[in-house]
Order: sequence, then C-alpha cells, then structure tokens
Amino acid sequence: MRRSWIKRKSKDPKKQAVNKLDTYFSKMIRDRDANLPCISCGAVGRQIDAGHFRPRGHMSTRWDYKNVNGQCVKCNRFESKGYEYSLGLDARWGKGTADALHKLSLKMKSWELKELEQLIDASKKGYIIYKQFYDQISH
Ligand SMILES: [Zn+2]
Repeated sequence: MRRSWIKRKSKDPKKQAVNKLDTYFSKMIRDRDANLPCISCGAVGRQIDAGHFRPRGHMSTRWDYKNVNGQCVKCNRFESKGYEYSLGLDARWGKGTADALHKLSLKMKSWELKELEQLIDASKKGYIIYKQFYDQISH
C-alpha cells in the first residue's frame, strides 16, 4: 500500500496530467461521436474508439478535437487507414482539414501543467465547453 502510494506520488505531475487528459478527452470524443459512422470506413453501429489522425506523439495535435474522431475498433486498432481517415476528415470538418492538421502536427508544442489541468477540467464538462476553451487557447 505505502510503496505504491510513494511511487505514484513521485511521478512527474505533468505526465500524470497527460495521462488523465488522454482518458477524459478520449471519453469526451467517444460521447460526441457515439452516433456517427466510423471516420475512415463509414461503418455504423460498431463499437467506437477515439482514433487519432496524427498520432499521439505529436503534442500540438494530441488534444485537438478535430484530430481525434470516432473510429471503429477494426480501423483504429487493426488497420492503418490514414488515407481514408484524411478523406473522412475533409468530409466532416471541411476541405483542407487533413492537410491543416498534418502541418500543425509538425509544430513543436510544449504544454504547461496549468493548461493541461484546464483541458482536463473542460473535457470533464463535455465537448461544447471543451471546444470553446480549446479554440480560445489555440488562437
Ligand atoms: Zn472503420
């Protein structure tokens, strides 16, 4: 008991916030897209993951609400449908979205702990609040 408590406490608070935000953000996206077809294959009624277009390693787009969309488990976990995903993005968010996200993802971004905590808070409140806040800080 005590050991694991010490271990948890000694973790980098920023890493903890990143993990927490991943969890809440992913849940928020799955709620948002629960009734939409898979972004890359168009299947309806399948179990939906929150699938990243540009992978999580790109910090500038990691929690961009356009970069992550409901994707069926098959596409997200077993097939890399990058091309189909890009077509789905442009259809859902407007022409040029995939290109813009690709460019944005190549920029370096270092998140402050405070920002991560604010995003965690916003993602808990749901997509509408999150979107408002994200648009504010990313412009
Ligand atoms: Zn799919």
